[in-house]
Amino acid sequence: MIYLDNAATMPVYKEAVEAINQVLTADFYNPSSTYPGGIRAKKLISEARTTLASMLECRPEELYFTSCATESNNWAVNCGFRNKKGNIVVGGGEHSSVYECAKELKNKGFDVRFAKIDSSGLVNADSLLSVTDRNTCFVSVMHVSNETGAINDIAALTKAVKAKNPKIIFHADGVQAFLKTDCSVKRSGVDLYSISGHKTGAPKGIGALFVSSKMSFRPFIFGGGQENGMRSGTENVSGIVAFAAAAKKYRELFDAGRIKELNSVLLCELKKIERMTVIAETAPRTGMITSFSAAGTKSEIIQSMCADEGVIIGRGSACSSRHGGNRVLSEAGFDARTIDGALRLSLSPETQKEEIIKAVAVIAANIEKLRGNRIG
Ligand code: PLP
Repeated sequence: MIYLDNAATMPVYKEAVEAINQVLTADFYNPSSTYPGGIRAKKLISEARTTLASMLECRPEELYFTSCATESNNWAVNCGFRNKKGNIVVGGGEHSSVYECAKELKNKGFDVRFAKIDSSGLVNADSLLSVTDRNTCFVSVMHVSNETGAINDIAALTKAVKAKNPKIIFHADGVQAFLKTDCSVKRSGVDLYSISGHKTGAPKGIGALFVSSKMSFRPFIFGGGQENGMRSGTENVSGIVAFAAAAKKYRELFDAGRIKELNSVLLCELKKIERMTVIAETAPRTGMITSFSAAGTKSEIIQSMCADEGVIIGRGSACSSRHGGNRVLSEAGFDARTIDGALRLSLSPETQKEEIIKAVAVIAANIEKLRGNRIG
């Protein structure tokens, strides 16, 4: 099998599985317990927090574990807009876990403004700044688009919105950026940053939120006061240690230069297909995600034809596929025909050149079959 849907989720690294086994069999204790087993479990969490914090260049006490990035994003939007006074600004290309939260606040009558995106899925800085004003208290713009792989310059955007009002809380969804591009929160200056374990080789169901110690922030989930009173619920110790173990492995394997080379191969192969549009081709991208569309085809059919041949590819966000259509590509200005044919290839640090060449050959053959209506 050739698996090129790593932006949806990644296979779990052996190192993460070993860490999980160790916790589930030997260190299964409740980290709030005060006997040695509990203390050991608590220490494991603390070590994992330190590892992940060093990757984000923040202090360990600024990083809180959550059940997933969807929770991190819900927490950020709902509690970042704490006083519910003033307005909030959200990028038009955000993942549904930010977008739907913002829409919910809007439905409740709050002043929520959406900034336009350009054809690469990047937030349009002029639009963002035109809807941001002195009464804006919260802004959320994703770091890397899960649809197109394009990288928003969150450092510049943070600076620009804070120039309008220094009290603005800036949140970035860093799920597709973490370990794939510069994700230092120190350098970007964001106040809140969401990450998810399963995009870098940990299991699903573990995420984290960076909360700058410079801001005051409230919990979203109340209860027993775990995570320093900020996120209650018995900690997912195995998920947390697996998150750190996987992140270490991912970072060890990730080679930006190699990914760049793989991307040139990918683009070169894709361009051999007639009437092919590569989305965000010239935008700054991580190279881990490439979206494209072959006019006159249906992505779900191509995806399933490829899967029958052992080539697993994505078609936009796995979450948005449930709702049909593609909100982000439509916001980005693409017509229905392009959106209907939109596919997404996403790499892992271990993806091989031969896999890309083979996968694109299978995609190309299936596109040709479908265009010629010669299926079966
Ligand atoms: N944000 C982005 C950009 C994503 O790509 C995803 C998952 O696809 C999420 C948030 C949600 O992450 P999780 O699956 O951990 O809830």
